[in-house]
Amino acid sequence: MTVAGKPNVGKSTLLNRIVGQKLSIVSPKPQSTRDRVVGIRTDGDVQMVILDTPGLLTPAYELQRVMRATALRALRDADVIVYLADATAGTAEPLNVAAGLERPPRAPVITAYNKADRLSAEARAALAREPQATLVSARSGDGVDLLLARCAELVPESPFLYPEDDVSTQHLRFFAAELIRETTLEQLGDELPYSIACEIEEFREGRSPTYVRAVLFVERESQKRILIGAKGQRIRSIGQSSRKKLEALIGDDVYLDLWAKVLPNWRKSASALARFGYRPPEDSAT
Ligand code: GDP
Ligand code: MG
Repeated sequence: MTVAGKPNVGKSTLLNRIVGQKLSIVSPKPQSTRDRVVGIRTDGDVQMVILDTPGLLTPAYELQRVMRATALRALRDADVIVYLADATAGTAEPLNVAAGLERPPRAPVITAYNKADRLSAEARAALAREPQATLVSARSGDGVDLLLARCAELVPESPFLYPEDDVSTQHLRFFAAELIRETTLEQLGDELPYSIACEIEEFREGRSPTYVRAVLFVERESQKRILIGAKGQRIRSIGQSSRKKLEALIGDDVYLDLWAKVLPNWRKSASALARFGYRPPEDSAT
């Protein structure tokens, strides 16, 4: 099952809701999900593997190109696609138009309208008249079980791919980096949102506190100064909030060693993108 849709419609919130745990970073800023996040939910005899994707957008630079390729690959690999749209924006254009696909994807597509909690009664009734439309609120959870039941009917039968108590295929390191990046986006407000990458240099478990050394990369010296703040108070504050989130994630005390570094124009560099785990397009067909 792949959750796809435009930036900011609530895909990551929906994934977290379905899995019952915060896996994917949620941000009021679009484009905060860069890689695809895999969630797993096992319910009785049904196991769903859920991919959250970066928003589908027209790429302007290398990072966006990689993000779009990732989203398209997730669409191609899916058994069922949940096409999430913002209910407050009215009727959505079809997925293949929104995603700029030449033909509709192979898998069945369920269109779900999110943020139903923000609709007036009239707007809700109008959308409900659309055939096949499912109204959900990822934030409150309303309608999500119904959406999952519809997906479960469409996914093929096969043995479980993952152990029953797993919620994800990705490593703690990945989530640690994402949480630190999320905290940075929160604390910087509208300053330099897309220039930040986070790399975990060391993640040492086994002895408490867990030791984590992380580097926040920006593209220019001036950005580094903003990130560090006067007397280092900005990065200290990012570090404190991040540490609390990491402790909640791994259930242990954490010692977080957080650094800021400049990697000039990393968003345009294929090698830097690979280093941060953003996979390049596999082939030009995607
Ligand atoms: P993504 O870009 O599609 O992954 O979207 P996010 O999950 O990051 O959410 C974008 C914004 O929409 C965030 O500010 C969320 O809190 C908000 N949001 C997500 N789901 C809902 C919902 O069901 N209702 C409302 N009112 N807001 C939501
Ligand atoms: Mg997202």
